[in-house]
Amino acid sequence: MRTEVGPGRPNAYPSGVPRASADDRCPGAVRLHEAADGFVGRVRIPGGRISPSQLGALASLAATLGDGHLYLTSRGNVQLRGLSSGCGQDLADGLYAAGLLPSLTHDRVRNVVASPLGGLTGHPATDEVLHEFDEALLEDPGLVALSGRFLFGIDNGTGDVLALAPDVAVVLPVDGTVTGWTAGTDVARLAIAGELTAVTAPVDLAADLLIGAAHRFLALRAEHAPNAWRAKELPAEARAELAPGRPGPQLDNPLEPLDARHDLREVTRTPSPVGLGRVAVDDVVRGVVAGAPLGSAPAEAWLTIAGLMSHEVPGSIRFTPWRSVVLIDPAPDAESLLREHGFLLDDTDPLATVTACIGKPGCGKALADVRADAPALAAAHPGVRLHLSGCDRRCGHPTTPHLSAVADGTSYTLEQH
Ligand code: SF4
Repeated sequence: MRTEVGPGRPNAYPSGVPRASADDRCPGAVRLHEAADGFVGRVRIPGGRISPSQLGALASLAATLGDGHLYLTSRGNVQLRGLSSGCGQDLADGLYAAGLLPSLTHDRVRNVVASPLGGLTGHPATDEVLHEFDEALLEDPGLVALSGRFLFGIDNGTGDVLALAPDVAVVLPVDGTVTGWTAGTDVARLAIAGELTAVTAPVDLAADLLIGAAHRFLALRAEHAPNAWRAKELPAEARAELAPGRPGPQLDNPLEPLDARHDLREVTRTPSPVGLGRVAVDDVVRGVVAGAPLGSAPAEAWLTIAGLMSHEVPGSIRFTPWRSVVLIDPAPDAESLLREHGFLLDDTDPLATVTACIGKPGCGKALADVRADAPALAAAHPGVRLHLSGCDRRCGHPTTPHLSAVADGTSYTLEQH
């Protein structure tokens, strides 16, 4: 195995460079993607918020239709793998019955990350804005034209979601926790591609800020870059127009002056925003954060989690973009049961900082069984944020700095990204 660490190659699609095709081929719950181990379905879960019964339904679908596992994504969504070609209707029926497929047309555009600890640790709750936004998105036929990769964000003022550089995001007000925060305590601020802008609106119009910015993206895309999937793929001058000092199509509140839009501000970025283990405020335990090793766990483990929740509360289970799950007020024996099922509850666990693509045998392009190799590589690089890939496409790599291990057929090439 090579141990020399290179500087890393640019992997993200270059900013402002025209893309060859508008079709992103992103899987959804309806449009499945064919892989070497069967079909893959991706279930969008806005903000990662689900109820215990919905998690139970997902686990049952994975056990009966898929390979028996649920896989968490870097956007807090869930994938099922190993699906047979004839199971699409059963999958859609099961998701619809569980309230996880409210729209066939909007299936792939409900990509929303929301601060997982919002409302738990003294920072604002994101649930109300999330709910309003999802409803507005589902009612908006124009936004089905967005790519399945376009990402919305709702940040509770800690910068955790902004660090993921969503295409459009709102930051809810908490004085002092986001560097450069100068607005009042009741306004939300718009961010584009992870950078704060001067555009603000009252918090109760935060969802409209997101909807308006998404419409502006579609209009600018049509004019400047018809195949762009993400905001950063617009030419720089068009990208600046995503946060203009004027109302968007569905936004009628007064915004800040036009020339203030260039006043972009730096954001405090936390590398590990949601630690594993107990979530406690003033010695009162509010929940538990459990990491799924390499982002997946078998159906019976997820069913155990669903059973740990005594009340059927929507959003009492939250998938995070860091492939962990937040349980709010679980049963007292939650931690021992989670450990029993292989979940990680300690940030010092060697696998806590490791992610991996699906690799062999699930992906036909893979040059190695990266998930089997992960423990050895993790042990060789303790405490390092490490991502293993079966080929140089580096699917699912973190957007924050990390060490990349790419299979090359005989070993792994290590690069710092
Ligand atoms: S990085 Fe390569 S091997 Fe891994 S899932 Fe993507 S295409 Fe497959």
